[in-house]
Amino acid sequence: MAGKDQALHMRTLASLTRGLAAGEFSSRELTEALLARIESHQPALNAFITITAELALLQADRADKVRAAGNAGPLNGLPIVHKDLFCTQGVLTTCGSRILDNFVSPYDAAVVERVAAAGAVMLGKTNMDEFAMGSSNETSYFGPVANPWDKKLSPGGSSGGSAAAVAARLVPAATGTDTGGSIRQPAALTGTTGIKPTYGRVSRYGMVAFASSLDQAGVITRSAEDAAMLLGVMAGHDGRDSTSVDHPVPDYGAALGKSVKGLKVGVVRQHFDEGLDDECAARVKDALKTLEDAGAELVDVDLPNIGLSVPTYYVVAPAECSSNLSRFDGVRFGHRAEDPEDLLDLYCRSRGEGFGAEVKRRVMTGTYVLSAGYYDAYYLKAQKVRQLISQDFKNAFERVDVIAGPTAPTTAFAIGEKTDDPITMYLNDIYTIGANLAGLPGISIPCGFAAGLPVGLQLVGPHFAEATLLASAHQYQQMTDWHLEAPGDFE
Ligand code: GLN
Repeated sequence: MAGKDQALHMRTLASLTRGLAAGEFSSRELTEALLARIESHQPALNAFITITAELALLQADRADKVRAAGNAGPLNGLPIVHKDLFCTQGVLTTCGSRILDNFVSPYDAAVVERVAAAGAVMLGKTNMDEFAMGSSNETSYFGPVANPWDKKLSPGGSSGGSAAAVAARLVPAATGTDTGGSIRQPAALTGTTGIKPTYGRVSRYGMVAFASSLDQAGVITRSAEDAAMLLGVMAGHDGRDSTSVDHPVPDYGAALGKSVKGLKVGVVRQHFDEGLDDECAARVKDALKTLEDAGAELVDVDLPNIGLSVPTYYVVAPAECSSNLSRFDGVRFGHRAEDPEDLLDLYCRSRGEGFGAEVKRRVMTGTYVLSAGYYDAYYLKAQKVRQLISQDFKNAFERVDVIAGPTAPTTAFAIGEKTDDPITMYLNDIYTIGANLAGLPGISIPCGFAAGLPVGLQLVGPHFAEATLLASAHQYQQMTDWHLEAPGDFE
């Protein structure tokens, strides 16, 4: 498939690493080619907040030397980009917010550290919804990102810059974060592969917090094979994150060969109720049939409380964000209001000027649900419902190995289409949020097109079942070519 004659930008991580090892090209040549592509498409796509060309070339030269000396790590010389939510030493980390528009981190996030130690070359930091709050990338202070399949459309969010960059073949792989669907939903809307691992699988150290009990780092790539390569490097215990789990990391690459024969695939009745676009439903059903033809067994499962996941999330996530974002006060770092009259004025105006409308909406909602008198009615109640949703998944996984269904209710929507109606926007994550509330891993893979736009199939597994999800996705990608389709202007 991905061979020698293919243009460098069309090749996957797996194919590029073979090319580097065979001496077909150097990391510097690859890096220069992709940087040129990023520069030329940045004005139309706005996928990046920062392009780190100089640093990338330094890292590429270093990678070429390390390879020549015979010490190449698993990602040696391979280009990647990070969502602008991961702290990067000496490089701007904005979280898509004005309040951090001048923030240069003094240290690297664990994810950034691990990926760099494996030899990867960072080409830049990608655009995102402000503090990862959004499903369309429109809440970014740095402007919306365009979907490479149709530039009038949103690539989804909040990891929209990462998804657009990978879909447009500007870079083979990107990191992202997923608190309620922000890796899987943009992956679905851009025809890419996105995995959110189990909560605690990847260290959150240096990943700016939105909702700490839900946030998890993951990857967006063009194949499950590439996702396995990158996730394998990122995953693992880190004592600096108290929620990081000390659980061995399997060899995800080696696990890819496992067939779906005999795999019990749960199909949730509630996922096909009203709200799901007919064409999307048809593509997902085709994908289920493909898995069945390959020997998987489809089993009906029920998640009776899943309908409560969106309202539950919109109590828990704002509550945690109102607490996490209190650290942005204009005093220690980030945007500071000019000429404050007193300390209160400094706080109020720095935050008032620094945060956008969606972040303010969440901070206010979160403060309200945590306040004395409302805590029991909202926050405590939401935590109880969260428990019920987790239990629903637990019961289902006693009968099945994975749950399969749609990732998002529709294909990509127009930029501006849903901005005036937060509830409609929130419903984008109706199929993804459950996995975050229960801490489960989920992957989205391309499974066809509806009116020319990509549709995503989501697989969710029990805790630490990343290898099963990656293998099932890889097996599906061996049987289908949807993941190989590139948007017309970006081949
Ligand atoms: N779209 C959801 C939200 O706005 C999820 C975001 C995310 O996963 N970071 O909160």
